[in-house]
Amino acid sequence: MANWLITESEHYIFHYKEQSFAHQNIDSIIPLQEQRFSEITNKFPAKIPRKTDYWLCDSREEIAALADDVPTNGLICWDDDDTDAVSIYVVYNKTMQCNGYHEETHAISHFINEPTSSALSEGLACFMEGNWWGIDNNLCTYYRHLKKIKLNKLLSN
Ligand SMILES: [Zn+2]
Repeated sequence: MANWLITESEHYIFHYKEQSFAHQNIDSIIPLQEQRFSEITNKFPAKIPRKTDYWLCDSREEIAALADDVPTNGLICWDDDDTDAVSIYVVYNKTMQCNGYHEETHAISHFINEPTSSALSEGLACFMEGNWWGIDNNLCTYYRHLKKIKLNKLLSN
């Protein structure tokens, strides 16, 4: 088992490996995530019962090994028997830093409501990210309406 270090902030318990890229940048990661937490809770006030465990992983495969058996860039999990215990897993390495607004918005909105439609929770998380595949959300909407492009056509480009 890897040697995981732990640093707590006001709202998170960060887990990262010694000598990892996350370890090198933990002093900038923490205030940025706390700032994002404030931005999200200002829009979506939620009572968060305890700190969120935040796992900064080297790869998608490491997330799969720790959490869900499915390689992914970011993931949020909670135990059905203890839904107050929330964990976020993100890839954080030299080429990909998946910490941001997406999983964090899922974590916070989880304490307001858990919609049966994942489209609602994904839409909220993408709204807080502010862009979609690197394109500003407002530009995507404007372009789609301006050109009257069907969504499946936009997705294929
Ligand atoms: Zn999502």
